Amino acid sequence: MSTERPSIYDLSYQELEETLKAWGQPRYRARQVWEWLYVSLVDDFQAMTNLPKALRGQLAESFTLMPLNLVTEAVSSNRWTRKALFALPDGETVETVLMLYEKRRTLCISSQVGCGMGCPFCATGLSGFTRNLTAGEIVAQVIHYARWLAQPDAAGDGDLPIARPTRVTNVVFMGMGEPMANYDRVWKAIRTLTDKRGFNLGARHITVSTVGLVPGILRMAQEPLQVRLAISLHAAEDELRNFLVPINQRYPLNELMRAVREYIRQTGRRVTFEYALMRGINDKPEHARALIRLLKDVLAHVNLIPLNPVEGSPFQPSTRQDTVRFARQLEEAGIPVTVRLRRGLDIHAGCGQLRRHVGVDVGPMARQNSAT
Ligand code: SAH
Ligand code: SF4
Repeated sequence: MSTERPSIYDLSYQELEETLKAWGQPRYRARQVWEWLYVSLVDDFQAMTNLPKALRGQLAESFTLMPLNLVTEAVSSNRWTRKALFALPDGETVETVLMLYEKRRTLCISSQVGCGMGCPFCATGLSGFTRNLTAGEIVAQVIHYARWLAQPDAAGDGDLPIARPTRVTNVVFMGMGEPMANYDRVWKAIRTLTDKRGFNLGARHITVSTVGLVPGILRMAQEPLQVRLAISLHAAEDELRNFLVPINQRYPLNELMRAVREYIRQTGRRVTFEYALMRGINDKPEHARALIRLLKDVLAHVNLIPLNPVEGSPFQPSTRQDTVRFARQLEEAGIPVTVRLRRGLDIHAGCGQLRRHVGVDVGPMARQNSAT
């Protein structure tokens, strides 16, 4: 499996500086290494050519440049969506999805192995919680695809909607796991990815999606970086939300909305509310009316997600007609709304479809064959 050396992506800039200082290196070395890691995206310490050979050797003995082992990559039939299954050093696996658009290259990354929140319509939720990812494991998901995007196009890449070399433009914490339940590591990763000396991703191009952990939302309101917040709502009344999003029993809607209002007051930023439409469950006109009541006077944007079907779960997507009616009701009430396009369904890379696949099922062909 993987190496036991720690990942260099676990280090903040300051920690890298301290490590190199302890090794007797001058201060400017940290900046050089950081640029190799996050600007040049090197995958080999020997490529850090402005470092003394001995230092390159010491780095290589002490750290790994990729804590993730690519097990398999599934590519959607139109080639605009790619999903990687990575093995972690302890043999656990997580998934990362790259979505290509004409102008954006969005990465959907994982923050935990599994998830303990138990939302019954979500594949990750059904698989339970195993552990938090380290900051380095979070950062490395981005580095993996940043390296792929930085390569020139190869023969056979002609039908991509983008031309490489190019960069990751957006990162969303909408893969496996609940980012607010792994707050410190998620934010350490965010600070690394937004660091101007290195990867330099704009904070406003990062979205943290949460099931609604109130303490995390209040903490995020205090963060200096302008990262976006998305709330997975799915129901606008406690009774239904208790069922669809069980953590609502701990943080009911009035507490959640109080935290969201506080976040908006502190940051002035609009909050996205995600609402997966489930046939006959939360997609009727009265549900839309409840949502309108809840979001009245809130600086909100609603993202309607057609439910992605998950094996072993009874929930079904709403009909197109119901989806359109629901969206129209919100629009007429003056609430900004978009219906999110479904992506990567043929490779089970849609929202909430991410789960650890084992055995033969991980192969891209197996996925495509079992596409729903
Ligand atoms: N745990 C976080 C982030 C990961 S889930 C959260 O819940 O927000 C990312 C998004 O996918 C959430 O909005 C989640 O509600 C949604 N999702 C989960 N299962 C889904 C499914 N089967 N179909 C569509 N969206 C789903
Ligand atoms: Fe966890 Fe989000 Fe899935 Fe709920 S929807 S189980 S919080 S990953």
